[in-house]
Amino acid sequence: MPLGECELSVTLVVQKYGGTSVADLDRIRSVASRVKRQVALGDQVAVVVSAMAGSTNQLVGWVHGLDAAGYDTAEYDQVLASGEQVTVGLLAIALQTIGVPARSFLGWQAGFRTDRSHGSARILEIDPAPVRECLAQGKVAVIAGFQGISPERRLTTLGRGGSDTSAVALAAALGAQRCDIFTDVDGVYTSDPRIVAKARKLDRITYEEMLEMASLGAKVLQTRSVAMAMQHQVRVQVLSSFADLPGTLVVDEEEIVESQIVSGIAYSRDEARVTVLGVSDRPGVAAAIFGPLSDTGINVDMIVQSVSRDGVYANLTFTVSRADLPRALAVLERARAEIGYEAVGADADVCKISVVGVGMRSHTGIAHKMFSTLAAKGINIHAIATSEIKISVLIGEEYTELALRALHTACGLDRD
Ligand code: ASP
Ligand code: MG
Repeated sequence: MPLGECELSVTLVVQKYGGTSVADLDRIRSVASRVKRQVALGDQVAVVVSAMAGSTNQLVGWVHGLDAAGYDTAEYDQVLASGEQVTVGLLAIALQTIGVPARSFLGWQAGFRTDRSHGSARILEIDPAPVRECLAQGKVAVIAGFQGISPERRLTTLGRGGSDTSAVALAAALGAQRCDIFTDVDGVYTSDPRIVAKARKLDRITYEEMLEMASLGAKVLQTRSVAMAMQHQVRVQVLSSFADLPGTLVVDEEEIVESQIVSGIAYSRDEARVTVLGVSDRPGVAAAIFGPLSDTGINVDMIVQSVSRDGVYANLTFTVSRADLPRALAVLERARAEIGYEAVGADADVCKISVVGVGMRSHTGIAHKMFSTLAAKGINIHAIATSEIKISVLIGEEYTELALRALHTACGLDRD
């Protein structure tokens, strides 16, 4: 490479540090020295940070502690956005203290424009100019994650875990070479290592698989951030801020050399099962049930319908998130006359287990393997849902650990 070209190509890296990585002053100092090392390589570095671990929960607690009703949700965001204001300032000071020029930005100062859905706002656009200018001056830009500004110029927040999305969106807007997400785990695992001792760290995972894993309960990345990375082709790496190890790269399918049929097994306890018993089996019944639920903003996930032997009555089973269960039951009660059912049953002690892998597109037999593995352990399946690259089953919560370990072994994922 001619020397001139080499000098011109500055690498721009976005780093994101989660709440546990900035949980106290010592950790903030150690983040500062990690940033310093990146700067020493000659890279331009933009750093997105979360609030100190636990601080956003405390802020939410204060708002709820007022027992307020009918308040303006812009005020909720005004409170919640304060956690990140503290950490950006502290990190900028810690950087300056070790001789690294830096300045902090709140979301609005860094050009994050969002819609007006307070509490779960979407990023509409980022004006990268202020951050670019800071980097061009040879400074590290330290940006508050999780927040932006609405068209009404009110502060907004992006939903819990939203600073991942801030980081990926910024990386896309800046055209960064990489977005490194530093967290308290050293990568993405085949399953939750706290439950499955033989879980392995994945070197690479595809955007699609990561998207499924995140939305099916793996907590490493906010789901929206993965969708955004996929859409803008941002190379994301998940790695530990406490160790110097390579993490997991989230990449395009073409970049995976040796692809497994199954890449991971996710689980979510955030589920509840609802069964509507004895509805008449006629056109329009499903619409009568799911219409009012969706009007109330309740998301329905798995759906199973079974028809009685005489073909007159049907039972409909579906799942909602556990937090939505009371509201879902109230909606069904109100729509009882319109739907026409005998009874409604509910069970919050359930768990959804999902087997995920892009290799499932071209391989058959995983469903059979999954069902027979569970059957051999005497685990009953309440509902099933599938997509091209995943199979999910709903089982009793008490079987979560047993099912995860058995499926991990059966899918050939165990570390040796
Ligand atoms: N501080 C916010 C939260 O706790 C955003 C984040 O950590 O990603 O949800
Ligand atoms: Mg997080």
